[in-house]
Parts: sequence; C-alpha cells; structure tokens
Amino acid sequence: ARAHVVVVGGGFGGATAAKYLRMWSQGEVDVTLVERNASFVSCPISNLVVGGYRELAGITASYAGLQSKWGVRLINDEATAIDAGKRTVSTAASGTLSYDRLVLSPGIDFLPNAVPGLEGNFERIPHAWKAGPQTVLLRRQLQDMADGGVFVLHIPKAPFRCPPGPYERACVVASYLRRHKPRSKVLVLDANGEIQSKKALFAKVFEGYGGLIEYVPNSELRSVDAATRSAELEFDRIRADVLNVIPPMRAGTIATKAGLPLSNGRWVDVDWLTMEAKGVAGVHVLGDALQPAPAMPKSGHMANQHAKVAAAAILNLLAGEAPNPAPVVMNTCYSFVDDRNVIHIASVHQYDAAKRQPIPVEGAGGLSTVASEAEGRFALAWAKNIWADMLA
Ligand code: FAD
Repeated sequence: ARAHVVVVGGGFGGATAAKYLRMWSQGEVDVTLVERNASFVSCPISNLVVGGYRELAGITASYAGLQSKWGVRLINDEATAIDAGKRTVSTAASGTLSYDRLVLSPGIDFLPNAVPGLEGNFERIPHAWKAGPQTVLLRRQLQDMADGGVFVLHIPKAPFRCPPGPYERACVVASYLRRHKPRSKVLVLDANGEIQSKKALFAKVFEGYGGLIEYVPNSELRSVDAATRSAELEFDRIRADVLNVIPPMRAGTIATKAGLPLSNGRWVDVDWLTMEAKGVAGVHVLGDALQPAPAMPKSGHMANQHAKVAAAAILNLLAGEAPNPAPVVMNTCYSFVDDRNVIHIASVHQYDAAKRQPIPVEGAGGLSTVASEAEGRFALAWAKNIWADMLA
C-alpha cells in the first residue's frame, strides 16, 4: 500500500514538509495537510503592515499551488486530537485520518492565564503575534493614536517566537511615529534582562530614535487592565494609548495535549536526526513548537529547515533506510529598523553525534555591521523566496 503522511499545520514548517515529501518521493507518498486557516498569512514582513508600509494582502498566500502543482490533499479544518498508538488524527468536521507518519507543525499558542486580565481582551490589547486580523487591528490602533500618545510593547521571557521580532516592531512603529506623530513614544517593557537578538545593533538603532523609543529591561508584566489599557509591573502601573502585549507562549495546543515529551510543560523534545518526538515513534514535530537546540531561534527559516530534515528522514524510514547521520541547518533573520533599512543575523547548526543535537558551527554566520537599504532588498527577496519554497 502507498504510504500516507498527515501534516498538521500549514505554516513555515508544515507547508514545506508537505511540499518536499511530495517532491522528493516523486508523488509516491500520499500527503494530507490539515490547516485551520483558509490561506497562509506570513508573520515575517507583518511588522511592516503594522507600520503602514505594506498591506495584509501582500503577506497573504493561497494553498492552491500545494494542491494543483504538488498533489497535496488539503483539509481546511481543525485537528482536535492525536492517537499516536493507533496512528490517527481526529478533526473537528472531517472525521478521523489514519497515518503511517505524522508531521506536527502547529506553531505557538499563548499560555492560558499567564497575565491576569489579558484573556478574552485581545481586541483591546492586541498581540499581533499571529499574522492576520490581529496585525490589522494593531495597525488601526496605532493609526488612531493621537500625537503625544504612548505605544507600550511588552516582551515575554525567552524563549518566544522570533527573538528579534519584538525589537523590529518597536523600530518600525517608531519610524511611523517619527514621521506622523513625533510627540509620541514607544515604551518597550522587556521581561528579559537584555535585548534577545542583535543586541548591540538594536541598542544603537533605539538610540538613533532619540527619546522616541524607551527600552526598559526586567519589566515582567504582573497583570493588565483592559478598560484603562494599563500594564501592572512590580513597582509601577503604566497607562498606554496602545497596549501591545506579546503573551508568554508554548507549543501549539494540539502538540501539548498529545502526550508528547515536553520541556517545562511547554515545548516538545525531539530526536534531531528524524525530528520525531522523543520516545513517540512516527510523530515528527517542527518549528516553533520545539524545545530549541542551543542558540537555535524560533523562526520561519528554521521551521523550513526542520521540515526538510524531517521530510528526508521520513522518506528514508519509509524505505527502511537509516536517516542522514549528520544533518546541517541554517538560519537568517532580517529585521527592519524603519521602512527600508535592515539588519540581519545568520547561523549554521550541525548535528553533533556526541551531544545528540545541532550545535552552532563556529565561524559560520554572523551579523550586519550597520543597517542598510541593500539588506532591505535582501530581506524582501528572502521573504519572496521562502514563501515560494513552501507554497509554490
Ligand atoms: P506557523 O508558521 O505559525 O504555522 C502553524 C500553522 O498551524 C498555522 O497556520 C496554524 O493555523 C496551524 N494550526 C495550528 N494548530 C492547528 C490545528 N490544531 N489544526 C489545524 N491547523 C492548526 N521568522 C523568520 O524566519 N524571519 C522573520 O523575519 C520573521 N519575522 C517575524 C515577525 C513577527 C512579527 C513574528 C510574530 C514572527 C516572525 N518570524 C520570523 C517567526 C515565524 O513566523 C515563526 O517562527 C514561524 O511561523 C514558525 O513556523 P511554524 O510552522 O512552527 O508555525
């Protein structure tokens, strides 16, 4: 019988895995993708939508190519449960699917009740940490803010989705304010002790915005009040005009309730040679849902790379062969510091047999020296290429 792989989640990890399983098996393996959203909306570049420099339509793409060009069967539905023993996935409206191998790339969900006052109030206090309606909502609130207003951005303790993402957002919002509402301010409340990515570069850019960006480390949220848009810290209570809280997060719910091994109850532990959840045969997990290896970011680029390692290993395992004993993955994260100037960080991670996980390769990768428009062009090309790599 033909092998059947079910993929849950059509984001950076899942869509890439679905396409590459079909491409590399030359159509010999059946692939079903279960995705709750009708189309793909990219988090990368979404901060430019918040700043008013891009439209949501420009970061939205269809799943049609995966179906027509690659023969992936798409089920537009919610996966509700997994039975790893019986090798089945239950869905909300499309019945139960049997699989030979399962790929889970559900991204993140927010920790329930981590910030008292937040639950149920994401209209008043947007996160915009999943791209789509939330991105547009935050954009509208920024537009509606009066000159002289305070945009408060709260960053949770690491690890979180996209280490440079919040700092990029602070810069892009400040860029919009400098041009349109120069008496306003971006107040960055970081639960961490320092900037989590490209530290010296972001610190310099923040400085360049003069008083427009104020960065306050060690500022963990105690609670929020939606009615007054206030943030409660240990020693302070801050009223915001726009309150953008990125909540503490964990692996997507379908992964955390599937009985997979979790670090801190939040992130899935995998065998890095096959991307299988440790001790759970046949369930391969990718992307943001993972307990990361050393210095490995939760990024779209990295999820795309996990997907290729998993797709190759799955095809090996289905053929009764051993997987590649030394996979190498890489990452580049570009960050806009205004509407067109960009900085990047890059790294290469090679599987270390003794440590049984990918380790950053010394001397590979690196950082920008300064922000530049040339890198702005690279960043937009990177996005176009990775969207094509996963969907076209
Ligand atoms: P996702 O891409 O989130 O995909 C998960 C998918 O699973 C979603 O489509 C979801 O609807 C679906 N899903 C979840 N559960 C279910 C279920 N039960 N049933 C059906 N479907 C389900 N990364 C970069 O590399 N470069 C960048 O420049 C960059 N910029 C960013 C900027 C911002 C503002 C943010 C928020 C993130 C950014 N990232 C960037 C990070 C990147 O978006 C994530 O790392 C990436 O999306 C992770 O891929 P994933 O497959 O793990 O999850």
